[in-house]
Amino acid sequence: MKRPKKLSILGLSILLIASSLTGCGVKNNESKTDQNSSPQITQTTSKKPKYVFTFIGDGMSYTQVNAAQVYNGTIKNSDKVEVERLEFTKFPVVGSATTQDATSFAPDSASTATAISSGIKTHSGVIGLKADKQSKPESITEKLKKEGYKIGIVSSVSLDHATPAAFYAHAASRSDYYDIATQMANSNFDYFAGGSLLSPKGEDEKQKDVFETLKENGYKVTNDKNEIMSLNSDSGKVYAINPELQDSSAMSYNLDAKEDSLKLDDFVKKGIDVIDNEDGFFMMVESGKIDWAGHANDAMSNIKDVEVLSDAVNVAIEFANKHPQETLILVTGDHETGGMSIGQATTGYDTAFDILKNQKISYVKLDELINKYKEKTPKEKAKLEDILPIIKENFGFITLSDKDAKKEENSNLVLSDYEYKKLAKAFEESMKGDDSRDKSTESEILYGGYDPLSVTLTHIINNKAGIGWTSYSHTGVPVPVYAMGAGADKFSGFYDNTDIFNKLVEICGLK
Ligand SMILES: [Zn+2]
Repeated sequence: MKRPKKLSILGLSILLIASSLTGCGVKNNESKTDQNSSPQITQTTSKKPKYVFTFIGDGMSYTQVNAAQVYNGTIKNSDKVEVERLEFTKFPVVGSATTQDATSFAPDSASTATAISSGIKTHSGVIGLKADKQSKPESITEKLKKEGYKIGIVSSVSLDHATPAAFYAHAASRSDYYDIATQMANSNFDYFAGGSLLSPKGEDEKQKDVFETLKENGYKVTNDKNEIMSLNSDSGKVYAINPELQDSSAMSYNLDAKEDSLKLDDFVKKGIDVIDNEDGFFMMVESGKIDWAGHANDAMSNIKDVEVLSDAVNVAIEFANKHPQETLILVTGDHETGGMSIGQATTGYDTAFDILKNQKISYVKLDELINKYKEKTPKEKAKLEDILPIIKENFGFITLSDKDAKKEENSNLVLSDYEYKKLAKAFEESMKGDDSRDKSTESEILYGGYDPLSVTLTHIINNKAGIGWTSYSHTGVPVPVYAMGAGADKFSGFYDNTDIFNKLVEICGLK
């Protein structure tokens, strides 16, 4: 596949300005005319919402959203420069939120989710407590529960992880997984779904099993696909766990998930079946591994998990179209992760996102393949050539000596001398094992603590595509807030993430 023609600097600037405008509080009128793609986006009203959906892409800012749109646009039309819009970017109201917490401009998920759930600034690492680490603010979910709303908490990562936890727990440390999960079991909230728990029996595995506490408190706990699919409004309180889990009790990366796996959208659909009722509901849905892929600088996994968030939002849009006067949908991020950019040093004004389709697996699955090779190969016999077939199969990369390198359509997949040398160095570092690896600053910049070979492969394919990364951590880039439905008008403009909570409190008529 050829790269799209080089854009003029002027053309690119116009494109960048246009795409940034859609994310800066300008009302997006396109939604009123674009009827071609389903589901249809409905208008805003200023009525109090009876049904509230809050979607959070962890580590998702403008770049992550647009990377998914650029990728899909490039795949659809390789000869044009057009993005393929995600439905939620067509919402009639868009705002921007700053994300700094009480201690950092590059905040973490605990403090930022607390800002959204409870309207306060706190320390990184703190869940649902003020900066004194003691005072408990009342969260939006606690307030709405008192008003009779049913509450649903869905995440693709473990349910005791920072983002979901900030909507039901109060803890001085996000790592107190047992304490957090116990608070979940005692929350009396109505629907939990997605990932499992990291530490259900405590650190020494001797404490009371949280799954037992959940059952004692009347929760139906299931990880059976058929049972999950048959959940309904008579099921009572539910914790539905995906039968297919990957790393850290989280659901699989969308890129790795099996065709028939339950996805985030399935858990939103089921959530509606379980908690839809006369008194209304609030559902928080997190796509948590956008962040993890950002930390690891793995763009393809990042894009695919933004897509799965978009699929989940589409379920809510369908619901909203049946209850247009009473439903509010918000889609936002908690912070940016990775310092991702569209465009980077070696590709200048060019991008070639279509090359990403050659990446078949996430860095987590790639790590597994590399580890298998390490296990069966003595260090002194290890050589990069052994791994090249794995690299070709999962990233498409070939070397000049490969017979496929002569085919013109593969020209972008040939590893340059520079790239091959980088790979060879990374392979050598990777084979050393964690303890004897180079601990220099340069090594930290190159690999960020990830497997050197694995992260070098994602860096190479990202750079060929025209994607850059500046960090293995979070950054201070503001996040977009897309809104549609009852009360959506309030969410235009540029504000702080604590105002997401303040606006919800206001439009729901809460104290
Ligand atoms: Zn986060």
